[in-house]
Amino acid sequence: MARQVAVEAKGATKIFGTGEEAVHALDNVSVAIRENEFFTLLGPSGCGKTTLLRLIAGFELPSAGDILLAGESVVHLPPYQRPVNTVFQSYALFPHMTVAQNIAFGLEMRGISKAETAARVEEMLALVRLGKLGGRKPSQLSGGQQQRVALARALANHPKLLLLDEPLSALDLKLRKEMQIELKRIQLDTGITFIFVTHDQEEALTMSDRIAVMSHGKILQIGTPTEIYEHPTSRFVADFIGETNLIDVALGARSNGQMGLKLPGGREIAVPLPQGVALGDKGTVAIRPERTSLTRDADRQLAGKIENIVYFGTDTSYFVTLADGKTFHVRVQNREGARMGFDKGEEVGIRFATDAAQLLRD
Ligand code: ATP
Repeated sequence: MARQVAVEAKGATKIFGTGEEAVHALDNVSVAIRENEFFTLLGPSGCGKTTLLRLIAGFELPSAGDILLAGESVVHLPPYQRPVNTVFQSYALFPHMTVAQNIAFGLEMRGISKAETAARVEEMLALVRLGKLGGRKPSQLSGGQQQRVALARALANHPKLLLLDEPLSALDLKLRKEMQIELKRIQLDTGITFIFVTHDQEEALTMSDRIAVMSHGKILQIGTPTEIYEHPTSRFVADFIGETNLIDVALGARSNGQMGLKLPGGREIAVPLPQGVALGDKGTVAIRPERTSLTRDADRQLAGKIENIVYFGTDTSYFVTLADGKTFHVRVQNREGARMGFDKGEEVGIRFATDAAQLLRD
């Protein structure tokens, strides 16, 4: 059964300032986020992620367009009347209160009884696995533990929607990885819709049910991590998520939903014709380094000279200069026996399966 839509932005636009100073922070953004979904807004600094989050929370009003929660417009509702909580990068805990008092604060403000509040605090401490630390002050906790308290506090009144604005960016790498797994578990345990903001593509890929990739106030692509990674539709998305080779190609004959692509060096391959786009006679394909390999056989799609070799332990990267002077990145796993002993300066062929070549729309 299709899940209900939890929150929807319809043509959401936000312009800060006026005249020459005007900044189009969000430009006609439409997206529907489903109940129980872990949804991530991903994009570089300044692309409008936080602005979209603030419109959903009610901290900002849209300049145009609408925000709907469970099908109802909420733009006229102040933040505290929306069933939405936010976790910020700075945890914003009250330093003079204990962990338990921090978690209880919002519940008491809402007039929830002492007994119910105590039960919820216990429930939340267990959920974020801080069972015995309810009596400590925030200053007596590690960064990761403080982050858990902030989460517990935001979840204590059982919101329909939790917004998380780069909540893990203050943590060191190891802790961040642990918290990524924890956040995903907490989302699954509670069934609450999470909207997570990050500029870290790996974080987005590992945690999300779906990702919206943003650039310059617009959403460029929405999809599952696999769709976004395997089938980017634009140069920006292909380049922003993971590593990729962007190859200029001449577009050839089209028939039976297939299109011929002429690669640098002259070889031709056929790829599925993208739907609904007008294509000229030139295009770009994106090919992930790990979907390619080196060969000394004549059966090859591209050819070039190995410029550099970088060993990574689990795999090795070869940087190959192609006929058109561009560098192509080939990444192969160092499985036993897989090392072919290619050398720097050697002329080699590059091989990849046709479905590794993703023709971009723009
Ligand atoms: P970051 O990852 O750096 O937080 P972001 O993707 O969240 O970036 P936003 O904070 O949404 O981006 O900002 C989008 C654009 O709007 C930026 O150019 C920013 O400078 C501008 N902007 C945001 N808030 C305001 C404001 N209150 N007044 C003027 N300009 C603003």
